[in-house]
Formats: sequence, C-alpha cells, structure tokens
Amino acid sequence: MMFEYAPAPESRAIVDIRSSYGLFIDGKFVDGENLDKTVNPATEEVLAEVTWAGTQDVDRAVRAARKAYDKVWGPMPGRDRAKYLYRIARLVQERSRELAVLESLDNGKPIRESRDVDLPLVAAHFFYYAGWADKLPYAGFGADPQPLGVAAQVIPWNFPLLMLAWKVAPALAAGNTVVLKPAETTPLTALLFAEICQQADLPAGVVNIVTGAGDTGRALVEHPGVDKVAFTGSTGVGKAIARSVAGTRKKVTLELGGKAANIVYDDAPIDQAVEGIVNGIFFNQGHVCCAGSRLLVQENVAEQVLDALKRRMALLRVGDPLDKNTDVGAINSAAQLARIRELSDAGAAEGAQRWSPPCELPERGFWFAPTIFTGVTQAHRVAREEIFGPVLSVLTFRTPAEAVEKANNTPYGLSAGIWTDKGSRILWTADRLRAGVVWANTFNKFDPTSPFGGYKESGYGREGGRHGLEGYLNV
Ligand code: NAD
Repeated sequence: MMFEYAPAPESRAIVDIRSSYGLFIDGKFVDGENLDKTVNPATEEVLAEVTWAGTQDVDRAVRAARKAYDKVWGPMPGRDRAKYLYRIARLVQERSRELAVLESLDNGKPIRESRDVDLPLVAAHFFYYAGWADKLPYAGFGADPQPLGVAAQVIPWNFPLLMLAWKVAPALAAGNTVVLKPAETTPLTALLFAEICQQADLPAGVVNIVTGAGDTGRALVEHPGVDKVAFTGSTGVGKAIARSVAGTRKKVTLELGGKAANIVYDDAPIDQAVEGIVNGIFFNQGHVCCAGSRLLVQENVAEQVLDALKRRMALLRVGDPLDKNTDVGAINSAAQLARIRELSDAGAAEGAQRWSPPCELPERGFWFAPTIFTGVTQAHRVAREEIFGPVLSVLTFRTPAEAVEKANNTPYGLSAGIWTDKGSRILWTADRLRAGVVWANTFNKFDPTSPFGGYKESGYGREGGRHGLEGYLNV
C-alpha cells in the first residue's frame, strides 16, 4: 500500500516583499529609473519590480566602493573586518527561514534545498572567511598580502544567495570592497542581503548591489575603476568577459559551465550509486554547474542500474517549491525551459531514447519532468552541451580506460563522480580525470573550506577554502 503525502506548504508570511526595489549604493537604497519585474517561476506571479541599473548607476556604485576601500575598509585591521563578517553570518542564520522562503519564491527551488543546503552553506561561508580576515599573513601568500581594491562580481540565478556568499565573503575578508550584480531573474535575496548589511552596520559602500541584466553586468566588468572581476555564469559570457578585460590590470576569476561525468563501476553499491545519480542530476532541477549530467555506467551493470534508477525516479515529487515534500521544483525561467526543451528534442531527434516517469506538472509556471536519455553516443548534443536542467544522458563503458576517455571527452572540466567499492580504483580514476572537483561515492558535496573551480572551458581560479583568498589578494 502506498501512502500519499499530505501537502506541507511552508508559509510565506515571514517574507515581506516590497512592490519595488531600488539599487543598494553607498549603504542606502536609491531609486532607479528603469524597472522590470521578477516573477515566481512556479506560478508566474509577479513578485516585485526591480531596477535595471544603467551605466551611470554602475559608476556611482563603483565610486562608492572605491571611497569605502580607500577611507574605511582597506585601512581597517583584519580583526575588525572579521567582526562584521561574523555579524553578517549570525544575521543570515537568524533570518535564514525568511531568506530560504524568498529564495524558493524567486528561484523555484524546493524549500527543502534552500532551507537545508543553500542557507546553511551561506552562513558557513561567512563564518569561515570571517576566520581568515585576521590571519591573512598565515594563508601562504606572503607575510603581508594586500587586497586588490574594488571587486566587480557577477553571479547567475541557480544559487543566488550562495553564489553571493562565495563572492562577497572572501572579498571582504581579504580587505576589498564589492559591487555585486545578481542575475536578472533572481535579484530578491541579494536585496534582502543588502538589508542585512545595513542591520550589521557594515560601513557604507563596502557592499553595493546593482540589479539588472547583461548590459548592467557588462558596464560593471568594463568599468575602469574596478580592480578585480569575479564571474560565475555561462562559458559564452565568460569568454566575452575574458576578452573585454584582456590587457587591463584587472585580475579575473571565471567559474563557468560543466558537463560532468558520473562514473559507476560494476563493483559499486548500486542503491547508493542510484541515490548519488539522482542527487547529481535532479538536485536543484539540474540547474547546477557541476551536475552529474552524463552518467557513465559499466556495461555489465547498466540494465540493473537503469532499472533501479527508473524505480527511484518514479518516486520523485515534482511540484510546489514551498511544499516541504517537494524534491524537484520549477525551472527558473521561460527562457531556460525553452533551452531544456530544445536540447531534449534534439536528443530524441538524434536517435537517443527518452524516458520520464509518469508525473503531473502544474498548469501554470515553468516545469520540466525529470528525464533520462539512453542509447546516447558521444556525438549527440545531449552528451556534449550543458542542458542545465533535470535531464540525464546515459552512456556505457567496458573498461576503466574507456570510462576515463569518455569522461574527459568534453570541452568542460568542472566536476566528476566515481562509484566503486575499491579505493585504489578511485585514486586511479581521479588521477586521470580532468576535472576541478572529483567526488567518490558521493556527489554535489560542498564545503566552504574546500576549493572549487574548473579546468578547460569551465573557467579558471578557485573559490572556497584558503585557495579562494588568492583571487582577492595582490599575489
Ligand atoms: P549567464 O552567463 O547568462 O549569466 C550569468 C550572469 O552574467 C547574470 O547575472 C547575467 O545578467 C550576467 N551577464 C550576462 N551577459 C553579460 C555580459 N556580457 N557581461 C557581464 N555580465 C553578463 O549564465 P546563467 O544562465 O545565469 O547561469 C547559468 C550558467 O552558470 C551555467 O552555464 C552554469 O554552469 C554556470 N554556473 C557556473 C558555476 C561555477 O561555479 N562554475 C556555478 C553556477 C553556475
């Protein structure tokens, strides 16, 4: 007998969304002229109007950041910067339910993930880098490493607040000031974070937040007053940014796309591996740069793994992101849904077999059922291009050497997974994979103490850990 889950919606009463938002510059919210709407992707309900910053707004923000760097934050002793970062971390914890509900409303991700993954990691990042602020001489970058100045930070929509934390916490700990641009479809938690900066009495101009789309991002990274550019987003935009800052004094880190291989050997604990495959590709609707979007399974266990995977997928609950039982939420935007559909249709047209469990999708909003493709070859678009959605491509291999060759046969190199009973096989495989992060018998594990970043077209530079400080120091 199957028990049905009763609805368990999280209340949104804790969140007070304003009808419109200005930009956060020099410690204050200032009105902007161009407004655009941000919607709840699960319902298409308009949540608020948000300013799209123009070149002059960006200039004001960069000037405010420069002034704060020269007069307050740059000269401030590390132990005092640390106090502010600890204060921000504690405020994030105190307001975590509010932030989690707002994140799920604006992004479409399940509340279970924003509450249990995103928010704890956001707080952990601020706590972790608060600890570094007065210990920079011991970080391995010389006796007295200096900050760079003003950091321009541009982030995507898949983990809005977590990507903000990855950028803002190390930058401030190292003594820089920042101008951050959140993604156009998910600006709200960054604006609430601005309120937290006010609440923490962070000196004016240390954190500035300019909302808007690609043009705002371009104006920010190209601004001559910026000393450092930190970008997370697509490889196409990353390449354009690398070109635009080439030949300038700006230091750059790029965290770009991925097409990770999740390798399952025949001696792997199959049930555990299936959980890892599901977590690897359906966590956050597959809107994850390091998602395990290519399953490489050893041929002699392929059938067994696929049967178990399909049984497990049939249990995934797709629907209301605010329901605490939901496993897979809404796709973040109509544009992203169109891209997922286009690539999935290409997979079917190129001859791969498409399968989804029976699953009722809500009528309004942007939704895509968890999907797998079998019979995929390395030439298929679904095996080569980043889909950034809940779509898994399954390929098989016979020998470890073939697994490694197929795993590395991609322009990307962000992450990979290995499932096997043997430690020696983990080490042999990990040594040969060209990926910045390799998980063994687990997937999508994040920790502020651990560096994260890519090879090849997945970008350069590392975020997280002691390594994450290097991108914000003059070394
Ligand atoms: P995107 O590149 O379209 O946008 C990312 C950000 O850049 C947004 O804020 C956008 O407004 C801004 N932007 C767009 N054009 C710009 C320009 N010309 N100059 C400056 N800024 C510009 O990416 P997206 O669709 O928002 O995010 C998905 C991508 O992000 C995926 O490819 C994913 O793999 C990648 N990602 C990478 C990591 C990582 O750590 N490597 C983490 C999360 C997401």
